Amino acid sequence: MKIINYSIEIVNIPLLKPFITSLRRVDSVEGIILKIETDEGIFGLGSAAPTKVITGDTKESIIESIHIILKEIMNKDLNAYNEVFLSINHSLIGNTSGKAAVDMAIYDLLSKKQKMPLYQYLGGQKKNLQTDMTISMNEIDLMIKDSLDAYESGFRSLKIKLGDDINKDFQRMEGIFKKLGNHLNYRLDANQGWSPKDSVKIIKEFESMGINMTLVEQPVYYKDLEGMKFVTERVNTAILADESVFSLSEAVKIIDMRAADMINIKLMKTGGIYNAIGIARYAEEKKIDCMIGSMMESPISIHAAINFGMAFNQIKLFDLDVPSMYKKIDFNTEYSYGALIKPSNEVGLGISLK
Ligand SMILES: [Mg+2]
Repeated sequence: MKIINYSIEIVNIPLLKPFITSLRRVDSVEGIILKIETDEGIFGLGSAAPTKVITGDTKESIIESIHIILKEIMNKDLNAYNEVFLSINHSLIGNTSGKAAVDMAIYDLLSKKQKMPLYQYLGGQKKNLQTDMTISMNEIDLMIKDSLDAYESGFRSLKIKLGDDINKDFQRMEGIFKKLGNHLNYRLDANQGWSPKDSVKIIKEFESMGINMTLVEQPVYYKDLEGMKFVTERVNTAILADESVFSLSEAVKIIDMRAADMINIKLMKTGGIYNAIGIARYAEEKKIDCMIGSMMESPISIHAAINFGMAFNQIKLFDLDVPSMYKKIDFNTEYSYGALIKPSNEVGLGISLK
């Protein structure tokens, strides 16, 4: 099976409300959609999202990298996929988002050829996934309202975005906890916004208040692994590494030096499923739990993350709430989204363009 043609299309998906973290604000999801056509008449879909403050990838660089990668693999037999995925990795340095789009389009093709849903092709099975809901970083009252809305929509796990001001962060969490208590569990994400010492202080304070925290995500600067280790050693709550981990070698380093308790895998960081499998396998060997998350992405790459998440036991936590944030979805799929993501038996990624 060989690639004979491909096309790239940009989609804009409006959000119900702006998505705000300490790193950025997003009003609509921009998806760079890749469609690959093969000589066997099978089409594969992939998608990338520009997140320049995390991956360094822009819309322009993603499009350019997809052209470069596809030039490398155009004449290769996709059935010999180890060589294909290696070529994607070696086609250019970095550019993990463009690599992810190509990688998932090939997985879509390979699993469609076997007439299987991708999760099944990867050795997993159909199951419903319980995702959290992200609460954007805002003024306290709005965050309390958003948390209450999420609870009423059935979410039992909230991912609270913090990190711009430690005192305000304390008040935000205190306000949300006063309103909702431990009727649900909390995942706190500071997006690198705290110093190591402040992280320890605030996490310990939340622990003493009895807040049911499942984890605290990326409290400190992504390059400061010693700082993250400092926090991990001093608090009871699990520390999840996000921006600090893109590749397998970075995951190995963080796991081996015990800088964090868990790893957040995102396909836009790993450069797709092939490399994400490497991290999941290493985590399995070391008994480290992983989360599968995403950037603000189109449903195509979210489906890739969902399918990956169903395939590996080491993926224990799911942060795949983006479809719940879309105003509407112009794609064909039988999957249903919400607090519980329900996949279907459709082949491949389980989604197609209208
Ligand atoms: Mg994060």
